[in-house]
Amino acid sequence: MSEPWLREKEGAWIPSPQVQGVYIITVNELLHPNMKRWNKEKIESLFPMHIANSILDVPLHDMFEEDKLVWFDDLHGQYSVKSGYNLMLNCTGAVEGLTSHSDWKTLWKIQAPPKAKHLLWRICKGCLPTRIRLQERRVPCLLSCSLCDLSNEDDWHILFECNDSVQARQTAGLDHVIAPRLQQDLNKTSLGWCLRDHLGNFVMAGTGWREGNYSIVEGEALALFEALKVMEQKGLSHVLVETDSKSVVNAIQHLRDGHSQFSVLIRSIKNVLLLHPNFKVSFIKRQANMVAHTLARAATSWSSRCIFETLPSCIASILSNEMS
Ligand SMILES: [Zn+2]
Repeated sequence: MSEPWLREKEGAWIPSPQVQGVYIITVNELLHPNMKRWNKEKIESLFPMHIANSILDVPLHDMFEEDKLVWFDDLHGQYSVKSGYNLMLNCTGAVEGLTSHSDWKTLWKIQAPPKAKHLLWRICKGCLPTRIRLQERRVPCLLSCSLCDLSNEDDWHILFECNDSVQARQTAGLDHVIAPRLQQDLNKTSLGWCLRDHLGNFVMAGTGWREGNYSIVEGEALALFEALKVMEQKGLSHVLVETDSKSVVNAIQHLRDGHSQFSVLIRSIKNVLLLHPNFKVSFIKRQANMVAHTLARAATSWSSRCIFETLPSCIASILSNEMS
């Protein structure tokens, strides 16, 4: 507990004051014996809720490496003067951000059409005329969503949950930004992949989720690693894996080594690729990778590791569109 190991933006240290006895225990003692899972009850009994949540947010990788000090502001965990300088600039920016928080200047400076800024302002101020809000103001109307009729129409539903809004952000190519953040709120990171033959026909798909807040690139690397392991187990010889994460493809192609959890994942991927010279990894645009993203989004409603040998219904229409 006397070393920085959390993944909080505010700092990696467990804050003080702590209850008596916490100083002398080790991180290892917060796990279930012989299992790589947090002992949630023990953690919640020892720490206040916000610290317990930060601990439970730390993802537990299957791959084991020695404890190391890593530079958190670099993808590979290595300090450079450039990243130190950027961190310093960001810290100064953050202080400025806090002071201007209340006067909305930052929002009006965003490069966007006025109506978009105005909408954003209304969302932040909590004055979108959703049906829930209209009823609070005694406007006689139904509560259910005017688009899907499946749920009550509040801010959360209309912006993030409603199928129409999900489709809109997918069409706008924004889903890769929004979906991982929504997943983070669930304290789960989900992943998905799909195997197709040379004509594009469905062969197999896989989904999974892990507890903890992986970063976006870690999630992408983990999905790639899981997919490669399944290809390996199935005895496939020639596989072309397409991912829409440039960071992952670059990290695989370049020799840069590091200590971060991302680096550990990349090393594991490289080891699989070394054993299978006909497994190739390449980059594709996000818009061409809708199948994997849709699977990842659906992943949390299934068990933590799923393999589909028949076509899951959630990707059926995307696949048939791509094939036509
Ligand atoms: Zn709706």
